[in-house]
Amino acid sequence: SRTGGTIEVTDLVVTYGSATALDHVRLSVRSGEMVALLGPNGAGKSTLADTLSGILTPRSGTVEVGGRLAHIPEGRQLFPDLTVEDNLSLGGWRSRERDPAFVFDLLPRLAELRKRRAGVLSGGEQQMVAFGRAMMSRPDVLVVDELSLGLAPMVTRDLAAHLVALNREQGLTVLLIEQNARLAFGVCERAYVLEAGRVVAEGPCAELAESPRVASAYLGGS
Ligand code: ATP
Repeated sequence: SRTGGTIEVTDLVVTYGSATALDHVRLSVRSGEMVALLGPNGAGKSTLADTLSGILTPRSGTVEVGGRLAHIPEGRQLFPDLTVEDNLSLGGWRSRERDPAFVFDLLPRLAELRKRRAGVLSGGEQQMVAFGRAMMSRPDVLVVDELSLGLAPMVTRDLAAHLVALNREQGLTVLLIEQNARLAFGVCERAYVLEAGRVVAEGPCAELAESPRVASAYLGGS
């Protein structure tokens, strides 16, 4: 067990050419927290994840990550022609972790799939490989972009339960980027709501769920 990492984003501006994708975003995740980032398509969620992992460079503002960060990208981005086990090994290049045994302990289903090509797996299985690959880097902070994308609710719940266990038992800090607010509110204590590149609401999930604006937009109720 170890101390979870931290994320501190201050006044972050990220642009694509002349288009502003993130407009003075401020967000923080403390050690051991599991925090949700909600928002509709195009809000800037993946842009934030890509900036946290260093794929994108801020135009202004600061991004500070305390500890080692792993990012499960939207759409998984596995190597489809490589086996599950080779995909996992590639996840360990930064941590010099070659042996996926501890990931198989964490996600036993992956041990059964180890010799299969990633490209032939189901969506849920692929998401589990992406999850395992991220864990191979021995992260202190995990950024999960759209865990539920294209997955059956049962599969999503199963993966979410694994995340919660890592958070509670090992103190892994998690930023859960989701369009599915029910899922996010079910497992996170706090959330940020991003719309058109701006944080429009933030706070404890229980409070956000009570806000008529958030409820009607994200919980499909009024
Ligand atoms: P989704 O849930 O649909 O993935 P998102 O909240 O992750 O949406 P982003 O993918 O971060 O949103 O996109 C934010 C904005 O930036 C959108 O308007 C999008 O069209 C734009 N954008 C994203 N990537 C690029 C790019 N490579 N070049 C230009 N514009 C981009």
